[in-house]
Amino acid sequence: MYTCPTCGGNLDVALDLEAIRRSYQPDDFLSRREASLWRYLPLLPADFPSAGENTPLALAGGTPVLALPRLAARLGLEALWLKDESRNPTASFKDRASAIVVARAQEISASTIVTASTGNAGAALAGMAAAIGQKAVIFAPKNAPPAKIAQLLIFGAQVFLVDGTYDDAFDLSLQAAQEFGWYCRNTGYNPFTLEGKKTAAFEIWEWSLARLGRAKRATGELAPTIPAATLTIFVSVGDGNIISGLHKGFKDLQALGWLGRMPRLVGVQAAGSAAIANAFRAGDEKITPVQAATLADSISVDLPRDGVRAIRAARETGGTYLTVSDAEILSALGDLGPHGIFAEPAGAAALAGVKAALAQGWLSPAAPTLVLNTGSGLKDIRAAMQAVSAAPVIEPTLTALKKIL
Ligand SMILES: *Cc1c(COP(=O)(O)O)cnc(C)c1O
Repeated sequence: MYTCPTCGGNLDVALDLEAIRRSYQPDDFLSRREASLWRYLPLLPADFPSAGENTPLALAGGTPVLALPRLAARLGLEALWLKDESRNPTASFKDRASAIVVARAQEISASTIVTASTGNAGAALAGMAAAIGQKAVIFAPKNAPPAKIAQLLIFGAQVFLVDGTYDDAFDLSLQAAQEFGWYCRNTGYNPFTLEGKKTAAFEIWEWSLARLGRAKRATGELAPTIPAATLTIFVSVGDGNIISGLHKGFKDLQALGWLGRMPRLVGVQAAGSAAIANAFRAGDEKITPVQAATLADSISVDLPRDGVRAIRAARETGGTYLTVSDAEILSALGDLGPHGIFAEPAGAAALAGVKAALAQGWLSPAAPTLVLNTGSGLKDIRAAMQAVSAAPVIEPTLTALKKIL
């Protein structure tokens, strides 16, 4: 089952929180060996796949949180961190979702997994499935960035480039899944993607605990005071599944009594693909589709498939929605590079959102802020080259060099 048989809405996976609370303490996770999302296995609704050991599937998640003190100072912020999801095995946040869906597919003995994708979800599914020899079928819009299409093909998925938008690919993949009995991973459709994505919230929580220091944690007073609660987290939004996943992760922790207040979740959409931001501003939960147009292909969505939960993620945490132009996204991409971070446009959009929130006075300079870089800049070098000036071509002589210097 994928969606509600009555209203067609998204389904949530409900954990047996009582059983988890009886068996586990926060320190049980902090002391686990896996430097990946699998360290949270007891909080996940799937087993680790057999044959997954020592494969890329075992390495999904576990991404670093990097400090950006120079960029913070330039923006006038007291503290700015970036969780770098480009370090995932296929170089985007989507590996978290695909790892769990692949695990789930093995549990229900599904032989073929299918997904529609703007590129990253497909690359992640293709890569995670390839890791354990599972078959994957991907529908992507034919104008997806070539690097992402190359990933799909290299991982050996069966790839169909749809002459249409992501939304067209989405509809076709649903029909194909039904017709051929394939297991469908689609974002905002399969409830297990959210369960993979929530692991980023667990990692942020764990990172904030580590900053508190072991001594304080040992006193057992961590729940009401952990700094995760004081964070404002910025994330780019297309279908709305990542922001909903973060919300689910923090809600699970709260329900377990391991997190006091929620961090604020801020969704950033491209101005040309802002169906969720529009509904949020209207104080509504009704999503009206748009004709999406943005160079940030990963968040270019006409009809977001996880819009209701995505709106609630911001509303219920005291967050908000912001829209940013393609020019602002490229500028943010250029801001990150000189700190050693190469983001794809959808990843840089989160930082563009921070700048917009500061400019509008929504974000206080004193607010500890964390942005998620959701994907690697190597996935879309065409966009990256628009964020920089071209390098001069010179004759291989010192004279030519001196002339330019
Ligand atoms: C998919 C994706 C997003 C947006 O996630 P949604 O769940 O669609 O909101 C953002 N950035 C990158 C790089 C992505 O691949």
